[in-house]
Amino acid sequence: MNRIYNFGAGPAVLPLPVLEEASRGILEIGGSGMSILEVSHRGKVYETIHRDAGQRLLSALSLSADDHVPLFMGGGASLQFAMLPMNFLTPEKTASYVNTGEWAKKAIQDAQQFGKVNVVASSQDSNFSYVPSSARPAPGSAYFHITTNNTIEGTEWPGVPETGGVPLVADMSSDILARAIDYSRFDLIYAGAQKNAGPAGVTLVIARKSFLAGAEENLPPMLSYKAQAKGNSLYNTPPVFAVYVVDLVLKWVEEQGGVGAMEEKNRRKAGVVYEALDRHTDTYEPTVTQKQDRSLMNVTFRLRDTAREEAFLAGAKTRGMEGLKGHRSVGGIRASLYNALPQEACTALATYLDEFAAGKAA
Ligand SMILES: *Cc1c(COP(=O)(O)O)cnc(C)c1O
Repeated sequence: MNRIYNFGAGPAVLPLPVLEEASRGILEIGGSGMSILEVSHRGKVYETIHRDAGQRLLSALSLSADDHVPLFMGGGASLQFAMLPMNFLTPEKTASYVNTGEWAKKAIQDAQQFGKVNVVASSQDSNFSYVPSSARPAPGSAYFHITTNNTIEGTEWPGVPETGGVPLVADMSSDILARAIDYSRFDLIYAGAQKNAGPAGVTLVIARKSFLAGAEENLPPMLSYKAQAKGNSLYNTPPVFAVYVVDLVLKWVEEQGGVGAMEEKNRRKAGVVYEALDRHTDTYEPTVTQKQDRSLMNVTFRLRDTAREEAFLAGAKTRGMEGLKGHRSVGGIRASLYNALPQEACTALATYLDEFAAGKAA
């Protein structure tokens, strides 16, 4: 099998040992005589996986089951854009948001259907090229929503903002498990799994129990955090296979040394790519203006001569590097360096960046 270096933004590269284990699970799981695709979601085999995945998720983020509840939801991170305000925002209440990119914008638009939205800071007028990280929520807000990593624009919050007691909510779709930040500062975290935590089809939600206690009651159970927590994410058939693979990814993260070790590796990986870009500023133009806001996960840049971008991508492909095309809304180049992408891929990309800049790799 010839595995390419997959720099795609999502669905994205998964660790090879996880894929190998999952392929065995597709044939037979846990001595059941059945595939993971065939077992009942109420049976013992899946129940164990489901519970294990939740426990591993909390432990990876250094959170305790006494205070936090993990949920496995359908509908992608995009459903959370609506579900969050549906559960915590009413016409009389205000929620504070920071507009740091295309995904944040969608979260804001959905929230506006349910209550007042105060966009306390935005970097839209400079093409989202930085993170307004001194932003604070308006006092009394129902919650403060941030997007910790802006997958399309290549920026990342450099730290966790102070909120003055306002509950903190984050879309962590593209950086959960990649950085050893203080996850306990967040009252609700959500993340589509397909960037850094598993396959498409499941969304991770981690909520502080005391925050959940204030959620709306009168909602259809599929859209109610309280009902989902009460049913242990088994109100309906959960995305069994996706949760299984998330569990395998979480085991793999543990074997790598946990989230702290992942961050160290990710810093080395992103380091070699950004250093190569910075060596050749006459060829490459980074799209993020503040170095402290540069994403560890999604490195975005343009060629000064945009007419050469197609040639750049074609040359990368002949060297076994794919998925480097920027998001269709912004263009340019984007290299996504999620947890499962090996160091060698980043070294190969850095070498290519050097050679292309020197005119040796047309
Ligand atoms: C990919 C992504 C989304 C959308 O995720 P879906 O699971 O496709 O709905 C939302 N937010 C961020 C930050 C993302 O990277």
